[in-house]
Amino acid sequence: MIRIEALPAKHGDCLWVEWDDGPRLRRMLIDGGPGGTRELPTGLAARFARQPENQREFELVVCTHIDDDHLAGLLPLLTAPPKNFSARDIWFNALEHTGPADTLGVVGAQRLTECLRSGRHPWNVATSGEPIAVPTRTGPPQFPLRGLTLTLLSPWAEQLTALRAHWQRATAARARRQARDVLGGTDLFDGADARTLARLAARPYHADDKAPNGSSIAFLAEHPDGSRVLFGADAHAEALVRSLHRVWHGNDFPVSLVKAPHHGSAHNTSRELVAALRCANWLISTDGGHGHRTRFADGRSTHPAPEAVARIMVRNAAAGRPGAPHTTLWFNHRSPSTERYAAPSLRELGLRAEYPRDDNRGIAVAVSRGTVFRDRGTSRPEGPVPE
Ligand SMILES: [Zn+2]
Repeated sequence: MIRIEALPAKHGDCLWVEWDDGPRLRRMLIDGGPGGTRELPTGLAARFARQPENQREFELVVCTHIDDDHLAGLLPLLTAPPKNFSARDIWFNALEHTGPADTLGVVGAQRLTECLRSGRHPWNVATSGEPIAVPTRTGPPQFPLRGLTLTLLSPWAEQLTALRAHWQRATAARARRQARDVLGGTDLFDGADARTLARLAARPYHADDKAPNGSSIAFLAEHPDGSRVLFGADAHAEALVRSLHRVWHGNDFPVSLVKAPHHGSAHNTSRELVAALRCANWLISTDGGHGHRTRFADGRSTHPAPEAVARIMVRNAAAGRPGAPHTTLWFNHRSPSTERYAAPSLRELGLRAEYPRDDNRGIAVAVSRGTVFRDRGTSRPEGPVPE
């Protein structure tokens, strides 16, 4: 079993992941979410408070990329760790000190780099200190943890090289892309029908060109019980597809759960990506906010994008039985931008939306032998959710 807790992390990611390794429970942390630099973000602090002090060893801590909504919460974790915290490895690809000093994310990335350089924590042990990246010649490498195998899908080596060169250009392009995002999907929630959905899914796709997102560490996690989870970070869809086609040789790669790349943005969920996968369960980590982005009065916002959800739904509807539920979205926040996916018209089209019972805890999803269900933190699952 793999158990994924998407902790409340506002517009970012903070995933507390546990799995059984024989009689032992192992764990890793993927990103720390946005937050203060001195104290743990509240969601992560509360999670540590619930964790017994003698069970705070992590097989791995991953900082997927340098953006603040993923990195910031890891700074206090590593500089002022909770009692008994330890990590056997920390994956982080550092940006060299050349970006504009005032750009969000770079300052934090430098601080994280300094902290890791101090030698107090292990750093990229899996690659003997080299970057965590997919080699162009050999394709996706595998890294065994105790009880779980990780296959690295992103970044490819070129994307890591591009991180510095494209930094400034990508930052400027971001505002333009977001404007397009907000315009999208205004008609998905007003009595949507299959035609609306198809039209949305067919809207032009503009690939995410933001270099920091492209540098995201994304991977498959495979458990011996057959469960397979894709942790998509904020990765570019093209990098994921390129890796998936190397791993599987074709489309329809069966995956139990996908952590949607880039909080469900329209620019990271391409038709090619959803076609490469066969997956009914998509976890979306966002409260809909995106830093300083403008919000409409009715609460509509960019994440997750209706186009991205429509692409997933259209692909899954085509593969399933007509009229049967085919897609479940798992949200770690109930907010105006996520709640709209509970619309009855979307339910009739086969979509299920699951929300936290307690917004302060986020959502816990368990994957056992490939079956996905809500986990309430007790040892017994509540029973499968229809797929
Ligand atoms: Zn992000």
